[in-house]
Amino acid sequence: MRRGVFFFFVLFLPFFCVNAAISKERRSSPVASAVKEIGIIPTIVIDAGHGGLNLGAHMKTPFCEEKRFTLLTARLVGKYLSHLGYRVVMTRATDTFISLPRRVEIANHSHGDLFVSIHFNSSRNPIPQGVEVFFSETNEDHHRALQSRKLAASVLSRVIRRTKAASRGVKKADFYVIRETLMPSILVEGGFISNAHERSFLKDPRYIEKIARGIVEGIDHYYKIAK
Ligand SMILES: [Zn+2]
Repeated sequence: MRRGVFFFFVLFLPFFCVNAAISKERRSSPVASAVKEIGIIPTIVIDAGHGGLNLGAHMKTPFCEEKRFTLLTARLVGKYLSHLGYRVVMTRATDTFISLPRRVEIANHSHGDLFVSIHFNSSRNPIPQGVEVFFSETNEDHHRALQSRKLAASVLSRVIRRTKAASRGVKKADFYVIRETLMPSILVEGGFISNAHERSFLKDPRYIEKIARGIVEGIDHYYKIAK
């Protein structure tokens, strides 16, 4: 083999192999969305917590604002859900303040099938870390509570699978937005900004992407097991 040809193969063959492997993976793993299987197009309301003057959990050094993490995650969740064929309603898509009653009003008036509120945690204690998902249990609507719990479990397991974060479990809570919405509703706490280790992950957009993909897979799985 001529020397030039030899170097061509040595330098570029790995590149071709890697690209071939990536395109093969793309071809062989089409996204099988539940939307195609259940024959309806569910409307998912995505609620990015806080916004505008309401920063949520925050710190100056190192600079960290919950409202930015929630918006970034919510936008990705909305994008991925749309790709799977879901109809998406966002309570906010920009850095603006939306009151809690207004968030509930948007969800209920849009006849959302599911409501997913996205938040990040904070504690005075720097030790706590991990992901937890809340649902509300009111006495009036047991069916909604049951479905909310199922959705919470599905989303939590998929987020943990994606991120490898610690699971803090599915929990009951009386938060306004998940209590007052009429559809199955959950509130995802995607990690603690007060924990230095977890904060370093949360500041990486690739980690936020994992959380968003986990939430979307959890929603899609919820419909797959419900059909
Ligand atoms: Zn929050």
